[in-house]
Amino acid sequence: MKDVPYFLPLEEAIKLSLEHPLPYTIEDVNLDEAHQRILAEDLSSKVNDPPFDNSAMDGFAVRFEDTKEASSTLDIIATSQAAAGDEQLSVTSGQAVRIMTGAPMPGGADAIIPIEACTIDGNSVTLNQPSKPHFIRKRGENIAMGQIGLERGCYLTPQSISMCATMGYSSVPVVKKLKIGIISTGDELKPPGETLSYGEIYESNSYGLSGLVKMLGHTPIRYPAVHDSIDALRAQFDVAAEECDLFLTSGGVSMGEWDFVRKLMETEGELVFWRVKIRPGSPPLFGHWNGTPMFGLPGNPVSSHVVFRMLVVPYLRGSLNTTFPYDRIVHARLNTNVRSTKDCLTLRRVTLQSTVDGFIANQPKHQGSGNIDSLSSADGLTLLQPGQSGEAGELIQVLLL
Ligand code: AMP
Ligand code: MG
Repeated sequence: MKDVPYFLPLEEAIKLSLEHPLPYTIEDVNLDEAHQRILAEDLSSKVNDPPFDNSAMDGFAVRFEDTKEASSTLDIIATSQAAAGDEQLSVTSGQAVRIMTGAPMPGGADAIIPIEACTIDGNSVTLNQPSKPHFIRKRGENIAMGQIGLERGCYLTPQSISMCATMGYSSVPVVKKLKIGIISTGDELKPPGETLSYGEIYESNSYGLSGLVKMLGHTPIRYPAVHDSIDALRAQFDVAAEECDLFLTSGGVSMGEWDFVRKLMETEGELVFWRVKIRPGSPPLFGHWNGTPMFGLPGNPVSSHVVFRMLVVPYLRGSLNTTFPYDRIVHARLNTNVRSTKDCLTLRRVTLQSTVDGFIANQPKHQGSGNIDSLSSADGLTLLQPGQSGEAGELIQVLLL
């Protein structure tokens, strides 16, 4: 065994991995392709939004001074529609301009009377209530030209894509998608859809991990499962290191005789650390193969997923300078006893129920790390600190899945 940091608290493992951050490049993409990407530079608005004072209602633009009394009657002199051309309308005393939502305010007008509060008779309008100087959207009130509307590192959601367009961007600089390889290992693994022989199981981890990579907006490359053989693994590592920015393995990182990922990394790779104080999922390792970073995840299906969430996600977040995905943590009161551990952060799978007194957490499924059903039916993972009791009634933190 090489002398590498061993069985580290999670925060230390994350910190150590980030001493070897993943390099990334930036590309410009059209807004249509920018959804679910990570913004690579601060974006400042190219315009004032709105670009001109405009009406927030369909109604009449008037002078507040003229219309403080209910039942004022005014002459309708013109109509202001959205994008009605260059004509700059204006009102003087005793006049009103019919106006549509979003249309520019006429000069001299400083109040909008909604259409529902008016009685129209030919070319005159009588107000059924006193006016107020309101329903005007002021130039630049949403964002001013030059102001930063989206910060580098933000995840581009539908609403932030709208923000990019509003600020005048047809394309935006984003982090180029990473190619992330996924290699499952184990003699017992068969692809789903084929017939199982005695002793075999369906290979499931690579599908889940591939989904996680896609959820983060990157490109998974799922390689066929590799047998428990040092030579086969070495050959597959060489390919993955060449083709990918980062690769993940599942299985073969524990203490056993057949745990060849660990053996190979120990003898021929550049191992940075092995084993982390989390349960489930304590066996992972991190290192480099031919200069490409790699995480060796445990084979148990729950563990591989949890380790991705707890170790690989922070590594990508830190490397790419992004806040995405946020850790969404809620407080919940335990309704069942949950087994904690003395020295590890314990991540049990719980369902959550929202009540007027806050969230209630239940642990309905058995917590074996091979039981993927316990994860697929859960709402979150308990964040039980080492030594925390985990008894029913305790208020705990839950990381939402
Ligand atoms: P290992 O870490 O290789 O000892 O694997 C631990 C457990 O996880 C064993 O029961 C394996 O059969 C199972 N396992 C390993 N890899 C996978 C995989 N890709 N899909 C589903 N189960 C797996
Ligand atoms: Mg194995």
